[in-house]
Formats: sequence, C-alpha cells, structure tokens
Amino acid sequence: MKKKFDYLVVGAGPFGAVFAHEAHKRGKSVLVIDRRNHIAGNLYCENKDDINIHVYGAHIFHTSLKHVWDYVNQFAEFNHYVNSPVANYKGEMYNLPFNMNTFSKMWNIRTPKEAQDIITKQRSAITSEPKNLEEQAISLVGTDIYEKLIKGYTEKQWGRKCTELPAFIIKRLPVRYTYDNNYFNDRFQGIPMGGYTKMIERMLEDIEVRLGVDFLKHRDEYEALSDKIIYTGTIDEYFDYSEGVLEYRGLHFETERLEEENHQGVAVVNYTEGDIPYTRIIEHKHFEFGTQPVTYVTKEYPKDWKIGEEAYYPVNDVKNLDLYAKYVKKAETISNVIFGGRLGEYKYYDMDKVIASALALVEKELA
Ligand code: FAD
Repeated sequence: MKKKFDYLVVGAGPFGAVFAHEAHKRGKSVLVIDRRNHIAGNLYCENKDDINIHVYGAHIFHTSLKHVWDYVNQFAEFNHYVNSPVANYKGEMYNLPFNMNTFSKMWNIRTPKEAQDIITKQRSAITSEPKNLEEQAISLVGTDIYEKLIKGYTEKQWGRKCTELPAFIIKRLPVRYTYDNNYFNDRFQGIPMGGYTKMIERMLEDIEVRLGVDFLKHRDEYEALSDKIIYTGTIDEYFDYSEGVLEYRGLHFETERLEEENHQGVAVVNYTEGDIPYTRIIEHKHFEFGTQPVTYVTKEYPKDWKIGEEAYYPVNDVKNLDLYAKYVKKAETISNVIFGGRLGEYKYYDMDKVIASALALVEKELA
C-alpha cells in the first residue's frame, strides 16, 4: 500500500531542508519533523530587539564551492560581512588569523621577512616529529604565538592539556605574511540578510513541518508514514547505542542584553588565556552591521558532553572513527533510511559542505 509521504526528513537543519526542498520541487511528497521547537537546526537565530542572536554559536557562511554559493543565494541575499576575529590575551588584543597585524603587535616588527625570521628561529625548538599538539603547534608557528594565542584556548576547547592532545588535531595553522585579517580564504562569505532562520524557512515553503517531534520516541508512527527516511540525527542514538556511544565536546552559552550600542567593536573576540573559562564572546549585532541602541553578547563555554545534551563537536579520534565505522556497517543493512548531515555522518561539517553533501544525495536519490 502506498504510504502517505515519499520521504520523511528527520531534522530541519540545512541538510534536511535542502533535501526536502529538492524532493518537493521534483513532485515528491515530503514531511519534515524536528525535535526542537524551531526549524534551521544549529543555524537557528532568535530575533530580539531587531538583532539576530545565533543561539547555537556564531555561524558565518563561507565557501569556495560556487554551486553551493549560487544555491543558497536563491533563498537569501547575503551581506558583505567578513569574519575578522580578535584575540584577547590578558588584555592584549591581537588580530586573527595569524597575520602581519598579529606579528607586528607581538614583536613590534614591520616586514614579512622579520616575522619569518622570528618564527623560523622559534620553530627550531622542535627537532623531531611532533609527539603531541604542543610540539605540533610550536613546529608550525613558534613559541610566542603558541603560548599566547593557542595554548589556553585549545586546552579549554578540548578540556585537556596540549601535551596530552594528539598532534593531528592541528594539521595546519593559517599563517599569513600579509596584513590581511580575513579569517577565511574562501572566495564567498557573508551572513544571510534577515537571518538564517528566514533562509531555511524559504527552503521549507509549502512543505509540511512538524516541530517538537522526536522521531525516536514515535518511531513506529512515523516509519509507517513514509517509504524512505532521511535521518539527520546522531547515528548511534538511532541504533540505541548498540555498539557504544560516540563522543562529542559540549558547549554552554550565556547570553546577556546590554544597554549599550557597541560593546566590543567586533563580532567575535577569542579569549586565549587559560584562566578565563569561556573561549569567546560573540556580539551578534556586528554580523549584520546593527545600529540598534542595545546589544546582545554571548559567552561560549566548552564542556564535557553526555547523552541527552546537544552534541556540538564530534571527537574525530581513532577510537570514535572506528566506532562510527561500525554504525555505518549497520546502516548499510537497512535500505529505507539514509543518514546525512553532521550528526548522521559524525563529521565536523561546515554549512557549505553540509549543503554540498545534501545536493549530492539529491543527485543520487532523486535523479
Ligand atoms: P543540524 O543543523 O544540527 O540539524 C539537525 C537537526 O536534526 C536538529 O535541528 C535536531 O534537533 C534534529 N534532530 C536530531 N535528532 C532528531 C530526532 N531524533 N528527531 C527529530 N529531530 C532530530 N558552519 C559554518 O559553515 N560556519 C560557521 O561559522 C559555523 N560555526 C559553528 C559553530 C558551532 C558552535 C558549531 C557547533 C557548528 C558550527 N558550524 C559552522 C557548523 C554548522 O552548525 C553545521 O554545518 C550545520 O548545522 C549542519 O547541519 P545539519 O543539518 O547536518 O545539522
């Protein structure tokens, strides 16, 4: 008997929304559900005092994938925001990513040659293959940048000492010998005008969306509704953790409304010393060049994660990747469910890569 929907999409984040949009466009019947009470997944923004607050952490759209840039521009016009974060180390302010502005401030130098000479000298402290993250970072950028701008931040981020973290976590560090504070190298960058939630809302236009519905709590009911499921939740949870629990790093956000127009002068300030427990403060209005009389700032605290909490950063070490491979094997045995997105694929995926991956699935599944 034909079921009510061709596709049930679990998760109204960008992966689910792109797939749902394309399936609907091709005449398929689609139902989207999400256990949160809003659409847009981790891109969700809450509007207060006319300011879009990035509820699940700062999201900056950047890509070198022209087809993805053209794709998202169908649903939103993007502003000219360029991410140029600043690092605060014990009150000293440094531009990021590491570039001539950073080096000039750190060593009172002016030319690329002077910066290269200092870094080369400091890197020479590491003479053999780096054994841990500390040695890896010093071998890439030298001791001063490591001590002031990497050590404390990374230890907070991962909850472990840099000497206890594997070297592979930082394969490369962006070092630029030009006076260029643009954090990303990508060709395209910006924030959707009107916010991410509006952009996803447009993708989901004319598609039935049910919010506050956890698929896993109503599995039988929802499985009965559709022939095929696109699942963008955590893959281990789908299988009831039968092989073990995939690990994540958690985050805790504290947001404050301040009665001032401009609190920190930039959207993102990283706090790179170890003694301050948060990693960054976001001032949301600067993503959209806001001129409102008030402002909202969010402190971002990394934390240990446990089942039932929001899963933020996958811990892509060997142990977890082996475990994930076991779930992939299990997933291959069921033909009516496709796992996708950052949770379904246990990958630290930026938005553009998630959209590219959803579009690739569309090609395969709906061609
Ligand atoms: P999500 O957006 O997480 O959506 C998945 C949805 O599925 C969620 O809404 C969830 O509620 C729902 N769901 C899960 N399980 C169930 C269930 N059982 N039943 C019903 N619904 C369910 N990317 C960038 O490109 N630029 C950035 O600046 C950037 N910053 C980031 C900052 C932080 C702190 C984090 C954590 C990520 C950042 N990202 C950034 C990555 C970005 O968030 C992801 O690429 C994107 O959210 C992935 O989309 P998705 O659809 O796969 O997953």
